[in-house]
Parts: sequence; C-alpha cells; structure tokens
Amino acid sequence: MRVVADRERCEGHGMCEAVAPTLFRVADDGITEPLVDTVADADRQLIALAVDSCPVQALRLQSS
Ligand code: SF4
Repeated sequence: MRVVADRERCEGHGMCEAVAPTLFRVADDGITEPLVDTVADADRQLIALAVDSCPVQALRLQSS
C-alpha cells in the first residue's frame, strides 16, 4: 500500500503532519511530503486517520 499526495489539491493545512508526524511533513513550499513511500502494516491505522483528516481530500491510499 502506498500513500499519494495530490500536490495540486494540497493547501498546506498540516492536519496530516499533526496527526502523523512520522509519516508526513509540510515542506517549505507549503505542500505536504509523505515521508514514506510504502506504508508499513503497523502504520495503516495511523495513515488512514491522516488521510481522513485532510480537509481537501488531497491524500489517498493506493494498492502497490
Ligand atoms: S492535511 Fe491535506 S491539505 Fe493539509 S498539508 Fe496535509 S495533504 Fe495538504
């Protein structure tokens, strides 16, 4: 499973980083950067929370 961030849609609200700081970082340009490519099984619940927390639906999970 991979997490994909839509750079056009992201508005830099930072909810993903607040919910899962080990998995996302809002970069200097105000756009989120996933810190992992493949989501570890142990992080699935956390990443699902982060995806749901994004107010503009810029994050999605994709089968790898
Ligand atoms: S919560 Fe959504 S809009 Fe905010 S930084 Fe994360 S991906 Fe971007």
